[in-house]
Amino acid sequence: MPEENLDNDDIAAEQPIPESAKSEKQLNGRPQKDSKPVISVSHLQKAFNGRVVLKDINFEVYAGETLGIVGPSGCGKSTILKLLCGLIEPDAGEIVIESRDIGLVFQSSALLNSLTVRENLELALRERKMSRQDSDRVISERLSLVGLTDYIDAYPSALSGGQQKRVSFARAIVTDPKIILYDEPTTGLDPVMSTVIEDYMIDLENRLKAACIVVTHQYSTWMRTADRILLMHAGLVEWDGKPEDALKSDNPYMKQFSHATKEGPILAGSV
Ligand code: ADP
Ligand code: MG
Repeated sequence: MPEENLDNDDIAAEQPIPESAKSEKQLNGRPQKDSKPVISVSHLQKAFNGRVVLKDINFEVYAGETLGIVGPSGCGKSTILKLLCGLIEPDAGEIVIESRDIGLVFQSSALLNSLTVRENLELALRERKMSRQDSDRVISERLSLVGLTDYIDAYPSALSGGQQKRVSFARAIVTDPKIILYDEPTTGLDPVMSTVIEDYMIDLENRLKAACIVVTHQYSTWMRTADRILLMHAGLVEWDGKPEDALKSDNPYMKQFSHATKEGPILAGSV
């Protein structure tokens, strides 16, 4: 049996997909608008080697909310995440962030292969200067959240792709971050695995009341996990709204993007 199928069986058996994930989220609704945003970005600009990637980006994200950022490849989505976590500096504009404690989940699980699952999580906790006992407790709590308690002493190479992804989730939330940034968390995964990961994202947002941003190409991911989405094109936000309104939108950018047509203002290879 191909390894991919093994992954699916394994994940599906361990983690039944809650039917209620979306409705729970809808019941929770949008966070209070009168609260202070956790992330506030205004007039953000960034160029690389004289080529402007971000012209004027503005958005806010509140606690308990997930903002989806979508748009053609190369339009600057990952650049926004790198600016938010301070990996690169903006050329102009302002980023106000309530907490420097940011959980990151990338497309590749980015685990250190020479370390066990426990050691990968310990590394994420190193700045916390916790006692051994507290660190053990936090690590086992997070692993149980993603259903991987039994793998605490395993090396990443002994885990399936899906399990590695779940360890990377556990690592991202080991410090109870107020902000979680996901860069293409489901890209390259099959539909069953994508659903499992999307359910974790919804669950984490509800549990931690974190402010989350998900950069994604995958339709199911932004439809299921985002409260609001931004469609970026040529360095600007061309559409901003609820995922359920995206398909009905007459905005020429969103219409083309959500229906995946060649006709429209988004030219293949133009960004
Ligand atoms: P997306 O995530 O939307 O696919 P990125 O944010 O990764 O796009 O990249 C946007 C553009 O900026 C691309 O053209 C990319 O080549 C360029 N870019 C990103 N990072 C750098 C960098 N460090 N140096 C030079 N160019 C970069
Ligand atoms: Mg990217």
